[in-house]
Amino acid sequence: MIDYQAVINRIISEANSFLGKGKIADYIPALAEVSSDRLGIAVNLVDGRTFKTGDADIPFSIQSISKVFTLSMVVGAIGEDLWNSVGREPSGNPFNSLVQLEHEKGIPRNPFINAGAIVVTDRLISLYPRPKEAILDFVRSIAGNADIYYDTRVAISERENADRNMALAYFMKSFGNIHNDVEMLIDVYCHQCALSMSCSDLSRAFLLYANRGVNPQNNVRILTESQTKRLGAVMSTCGFYDESGDFAYRVGLPGKSGVGGGIAAYMPGKLAISVWSPELNNFGNSLAGIEILERFTTDIQRSIF
Ligand code: GLN
Repeated sequence: MIDYQAVINRIISEANSFLGKGKIADYIPALAEVSSDRLGIAVNLVDGRTFKTGDADIPFSIQSISKVFTLSMVVGAIGEDLWNSVGREPSGNPFNSLVQLEHEKGIPRNPFINAGAIVVTDRLISLYPRPKEAILDFVRSIAGNADIYYDTRVAISERENADRNMALAYFMKSFGNIHNDVEMLIDVYCHQCALSMSCSDLSRAFLLYANRGVNPQNNVRILTESQTKRLGAVMSTCGFYDESGDFAYRVGLPGKSGVGGGIAAYMPGKLAISVWSPELNNFGNSLAGIEILERFTTDIQRSIF
């Protein structure tokens, strides 16, 4: 039987060897204020056991991890139709790249690069009259925490520096692939990225995927088995931008990163794990977070492969 607490304690005790090598995201000024030595790990098993260490209960800006939640909401509501407007192939390009969009006529490569997530949020706005409240309700229900909120300072800071995301949205609108007002769309998008959650919150939320689409908080099915499989497939091929192949190679779990330094990942039928370390590598993924997850799956000798 695996002693998960001992595994994560050992990994965090070795953390000095992989801290201080990355760079905190500063293109959103409010994100740059986080202290670089934050480090947390939380593991939740589908059988209800939980393990955590370090800063696992300190909320941080989940940024692009939110793309999994909005995608789940939209796929749960409109199903396969979404894939007419967003692809599901790895992009091989940075998360905020514009280059593929012109060749591919405004259809983003996948829902986890910014362009794809912006289309998903656009569809979510068409589905829900109060989209920001709907996102909060969804995340609170799967994380089992009614105190989850948007960090409005981060949302405003991102909104004030959103020229590139605005450009992506207007460009896609010119191809007919954005249906709502772009200013309003980017406001909702900046808020979803500014969701403030801890590693413990994220691991509880990601149990939804480990639990094959049934919310473990109340046993209500939110996604079909097939939808859950497909979300997992997209997480494992596209969840880490142009580092997705390397993440699969080193870690071997479906998951999603954010430029706040968080990563949430899961093993179907078994567990969810979240890590937070704000320093990023050149791909915009948590440098220590990937190291920790690689050590974790190496130590427990399990992955999806
Ligand atoms: N809010 C960020 C952005 O749109 C999200 C990017 C990320 O976490 N990779 O630029």
